Amino acid sequence: MPEKNTKQKRQSGPENAGRIKDLRSLPKVDRILDSIMQNRDNLPRSVVLRAARSAIEEARRLMVAGEDAPWLQPPLEDAVLARARSLALEDMRDNLRRVINGTGVVVHTNLGRSLLPPVVCEHMTDIAGHYSNLEFDLEAGKRGSRFSVVEDLLCELTGAEAALVVNNNAGAVFLSLMALAKGREVIVSRGELVEIGGSFRIPDVMSASGAILREVGATNRTHMRDYQQAIGEETAMLLKAHTSNFAVVGFTASVSLEEIVELGTEHNLIVMEDLGSGSLVDLSQYGLTKEPTVDESVGAGADVVTFSGDKMLGGPQAGIIVGKAHALDRIKKHPVARALRIDKLTLAALETTLRLYRDPIKRMETIPTLRMLTLDLESIKKKARRLQARINKLGLDSLSSKVKSTASKVGGGALPLQDLPSFGVAVSIAGRTANSVEKAMRGLDLPVIGRIEDDVFMLDMRTIAEDEIPLAAHAIEQVARQQ
Ligand SMILES: *Cc1c(COP(=O)(O)O)cnc(C)c1O
Repeated sequence: MPEKNTKQKRQSGPENAGRIKDLRSLPKVDRILDSIMQNRDNLPRSVVLRAARSAIEEARRLMVAGEDAPWLQPPLEDAVLARARSLALEDMRDNLRRVINGTGVVVHTNLGRSLLPPVVCEHMTDIAGHYSNLEFDLEAGKRGSRFSVVEDLLCELTGAEAALVVNNNAGAVFLSLMALAKGREVIVSRGELVEIGGSFRIPDVMSASGAILREVGATNRTHMRDYQQAIGEETAMLLKAHTSNFAVVGFTASVSLEEIVELGTEHNLIVMEDLGSGSLVDLSQYGLTKEPTVDESVGAGADVVTFSGDKMLGGPQAGIIVGKAHALDRIKKHPVARALRIDKLTLAALETTLRLYRDPIKRMETIPTLRMLTLDLESIKKKARRLQARINKLGLDSLSSKVKSTASKVGGGALPLQDLPSFGVAVSIAGRTANSVEKAMRGLDLPVIGRIEDDVFMLDMRTIAEDEIPLAAHAIEQVARQQ
């Protein structure tokens, strides 16, 4: 293949003479491989070999096409060598990496949703690197249940009789429907047949579980009589689903959970609520819009309540199912419960997070999701000023920044209409568009994700931690210094 290219070029006339010479002077794979292996970068031979081949091939392609690339500067061998080394180093970098979240979306699904508090990370590391009593009853000296670790805590915090934790809330809804309503009808309001990001759709999960969806009411209004009229021989469950990232506003009506529970009791039906975010704390006391909390749903008498561990709760990814013992027993015994079980790291993280919830002050200070959601405006402004001061200290003429007020979002499919007042730092670099700055910030070793507001790249300081301010400033400096 390489030979063929060279020959073609050789035949293609005098105007290509210079390029032909270049192609022939491309270094051999072995030469690049040996040079890099002597560098003591500790790179595996297979990775370097692949990188050397890619770099040579890339150089050949550019030269044949007569194109330029910033890395392709003479002398050719050094350029290819440097390129191969950087490709090899890049290949060694983890694909899943830390980023700085300057979007202001607190529970950002694409950026990992919730951050775990340091004490939670410590407990996870301890359990990860050592043996544990995961399924061993230390008192009785025999096999125990992995769920007992968190079940009591969940019951204590929500007032439920029983609890089970599975992989995520989609799994929790799926398992509960399968265990309690397979082959039978589940009545849901049309206003609640939503799609949550990442292709979770109530109707699809329902059909996958084998339960039969019976939709009632209209998109904007569902009344008690709609539920009443739909109840029949085949009905197993009344389901209420949180509309999460979607809001029905204007001329609306829905039936409260209390009323649905009353109807369910009357007809001996299971009542289930998919809360989605599932807050354990009423954040309306901190100025956010009122969202139903888990203990309210349990208190209203729902048999089953499901919610995520990594949305408003601020813990690890998990699907938490709480409710009445009779319903939870059936769910726990279902064979699919075993297929959706959580691993010990999730269990470790969830337990420590839940323990923090016992202390009303400590939880707000230590759980990053709760802290960021309730951060006061003055603290955010201070962080913005601190970042701006660091940017100014760089003394780069091409760089300018401005502290400006903006609005953050809760994220995680919670409170879609709620704007949280915030402050951001708008960053402009002379001669660069906002898009190119945004892209460059994303391409750094420690990527910084921001947003573009009024045609300027901006970092919302709500989601940037105090100790990330120097890192963000360094990132801005790196981008500003790229020619
Ligand atoms: C987010 C959400 C889910 C899915 O939860 P995961 O934990 O992401 O699986 C299901 N139902 C509702 C209402 C949600 O908001």
